[in-house]
This record gives sequence, C-alpha cells and structure tokens, in this order.
Amino acid sequence: MSGGSVMSGVQGVQEMSVAVAFAGMKRAVDVVFRAGCPDCRANFELGASALRLAIGATSKTTFYSFTCPECGVAVRKPAGERIVELLTGGGVRTLRLHSAG
Ligand SMILES: [Zn+2]
Repeated sequence: MSGGSVMSGVQGVQEMSVAVAFAGMKRAVDVVFRAGCPDCRANFELGASALRLAIGATSKTTFYSFTCPECGVAVRKPAGERIVELLTGGGVRTLRLHSAG
C-alpha cells in the first residue's frame, strides 16, 4: 500500500435543494439588535423585547433605551431615522413622547 491514488474525477452530482437555503426566512420574529454599553463597554445582542424606543417631537428627543445585561445600567442612546426604522420594523416597543396636536 503505497501512497494513495488521487482521483481527480467527477464526483457524483449531489442534488441540492435550494429550498433549504430559504427555509428559515419566513418571518423575522426573533430579530436581534447589536448594542454596546457605554458604562462597562460590553457588547451584546438584544432581542426586540429588551429594547424600548421613544419617539419625540424632534430627532433630538428620539432615543432608544435598554438595560445592559452585563452591569444593569440603563442606557439611553439617540435614535436616528434609520435606527427608528430598524427598531420599529423589528418589533420594538415604541413610545411616542409628543402629544398629538
Ligand atoms: Zn454595562
């Protein structure tokens, strides 16, 4: 038994179902958002239920908040238009601060 004969031949064609690749793309239920804690500098992923979005009258009073799972501090960060879109699209609870009218 000397060496091994390398076969550079055609391998049997395996049938790959494309459907498998899309199987998990029904609905984005468990969306996670990446966030960082300014206090302990931890980076983590939060589910939509762990985040709160507060929309004020202006972009300056629009922010999202969450509790750091590492140190437990309440973090509040300004939310730009894109973040608002992202969070609301991901099912984050939204609170409107400005009274209508
Ligand atoms: Zn922290």
